[in-house]
Amino acid sequence: MSKQLLILGATGSIGSSTLKVLRENPDSFSLFGVTGGKNVSAMLEICREFAPKFAVMADPTSNQELRKAILDASLTCEVLAGEDAITQLAAEPDVDLVMAAIVGAAGLLPTLSAVEAGKTVLLANKEALVMSGAIFMDAAKRSGAQVLPVDSEHNAIFQCMPEAVQNTLGYCDLKAAGISKILLTGSGGPFRYNSLDSLASVTPEQACAHPNWSMGKKISVDSATMMNKGLEYIEAKRLFNTQPKQIDVIIHPQSIIHSMVQYCDGSVLAQMGQPDMATPIAHVMAYPKRQTSGVEALDFFSIGELSFIPPDYSRYPCLKLAIDACYDSQAATTCLNAANEIAVDAFLAGRIKFIQIADVVASCLDKLSYIGQETELSVLLEVDQKARLHAGAAVKRICA
Ligand code: NDP
Repeated sequence: MSKQLLILGATGSIGSSTLKVLRENPDSFSLFGVTGGKNVSAMLEICREFAPKFAVMADPTSNQELRKAILDASLTCEVLAGEDAITQLAAEPDVDLVMAAIVGAAGLLPTLSAVEAGKTVLLANKEALVMSGAIFMDAAKRSGAQVLPVDSEHNAIFQCMPEAVQNTLGYCDLKAAGISKILLTGSGGPFRYNSLDSLASVTPEQACAHPNWSMGKKISVDSATMMNKGLEYIEAKRLFNTQPKQIDVIIHPQSIIHSMVQYCDGSVLAQMGQPDMATPIAHVMAYPKRQTSGVEALDFFSIGELSFIPPDYSRYPCLKLAIDACYDSQAATTCLNAANEIAVDAFLAGRIKFIQIADVVASCLDKLSYIGQETELSVLLEVDQKARLHAGAAVKRICA
């Protein structure tokens, strides 16, 4: 029987790769629902091609536009209203798989709703886990939800782990499984060979032109600052329950090895593939089976050489901020994520320079304060809101 799939963030880059995998495997999945933010034309095309039962746009005006367009096109899809509808859809009893691919903090509540409802959650929205940490993994443990990592690095690590670890994400004991380290690889982004002086003048267009991957704007900028690797470091800590010094970051410019796991006997297992998100998406959609993804096989003779470089924190201060926050507290990672979202928006809008993203995040971490237990979601949401206010003020100071 085909599985019922809900795609949160269907109009984005991960959403479109998920639909690509769906086209490859039409008999295995039915599209139960799709959600988007503002891109009505992309959503209309999805509804035309895949005939989902439900669609929602988070933005109210866009939602009205979609409703009218669906009526005009005589499509059968039901358009639901409002952001709450997204969270409710994620918990619908008929849904089997939820692709969590909304960008940023906006994905937290819908993704948590899927986790609490015990769904199989295909997790691309790393910000949700970075923001909520143990709350997220505890909810999965309570409900029996299976969280499967979509991020290519975490998916690679997952694939290189023994089954006992795969079945106990969030609570696994890496040492007992014979694992000494997770080797988290990253391309180093488009500016890895630029002079440090030149980073002050790079443009949003240059930052979004990733050398190997085609992605949404926010994650592209995060890749250029390596904040993305920092968020992934925190995500890896949560998913694989790592202890300090169990994760190393390695720059691997070719993006062929998507990450590795080092065992205590000296073995290192790596997962490799084309830099195309359809591969990890196909993996999690079919797990524990395999299915086609539409991605071409690797041709080792055309790859040539694979190289590895240690990260330089003077080039990537955001990576250092994230690793420090990871070992500081949950509230620090929540604050880091919120401040980064504001800083990246400001950079994309041409308000601050590329190198000032790290300054904004650092100034918010300096001001971090919170009242109450950081194991309460309400406390973390307050930390998130305060960090956004501080970050907004820091951006204004820079612009003044
Ligand atoms: P995109 O910007 O391409 O897409 C984001 C999606 O979220 C779109 O569907 C967008 O809708 C929707 N969205 C935006 N704001 C809201 C909101 N307030 N409420 C509801 N929906 C909203 O991002 P990506 O696909 O690149 O990334 C999605 C997530 O996956 C991120 O967390 C990212 O870190 C992660 N990820 C991405 C990878 C990639 O290769 N792209 C790789 C690994 C992880 P609309 O466009 O209609 O406004």
